[in-house]
Amino acid sequence: MKNKLKTINIVLLLTAVFIFAACSAGLENLSTAKENVVKYYKSGQYDKDVNSVVDKTINKFENFSPVKNDAVVFDVDETVLSNYKFEKELDFGYYSGLWDKWVKEEKAQPIEGVKKLYDFFVSKNFNVIFITGRNDNQYNSTYKNLLSAGYTKFDTLIVRHPDEYNLTALEFKSEKRTALTKKGYQIICDVGDQYSDLDGPDHGYQVKIPNYMYILK
Ligand SMILES: [Mg+2]
Repeated sequence: MKNKLKTINIVLLLTAVFIFAACSAGLENLSTAKENVVKYYKSGQYDKDVNSVVDKTINKFENFSPVKNDAVVFDVDETVLSNYKFEKELDFGYYSGLWDKWVKEEKAQPIEGVKKLYDFFVSKNFNVIFITGRNDNQYNSTYKNLLSAGYTKFDTLIVRHPDEYNLTALEFKSEKRTALTKKGYQIICDVGDQYSDLDGPDHGYQVKIPNYMYILK
């Protein structure tokens, strides 16, 4: 009887250990996750991953000759401009007042790999269109920051207007691409750090830039 109880106890203990291990699989402590994100960005791995995506895209379009209305759509944040400095200072949190202050300082730096892709498309005479979830109050600062970061040749910068503030990123960006298509643009390529930049209609070839800091839907 004693042995039987002992066996049952061992089985229960092993079951508990198994359930605990299964439940915690894939999870890590938040501070460890943040340290890993910092390591990823600081070690050069982020730049390598961006460059790998960019080189693949350049290879794909190397022999492509665009016609007049062919366009490439770029997202802005974490696609052509880096906000890593801001995110790190906030310990990867978010506060809209501080975000607005950061945008209006116009200090975001270009993401060099993506700048190379932008330069490639400009040299091929594609129309370049930026679609960003930033709002209309941030239009001037965003425009100037794009210029100071070296993105000096583009057709249009599209931001959110008040009646679009409540749309999800996916809804807003899809609507804007469809409107561009109706205007006569042919979107050949769409570049963004979020799947909500890329999913939906009228996206052409999708280029996903890595972002391990946040997800927007
Ligand atoms: Mg973005």
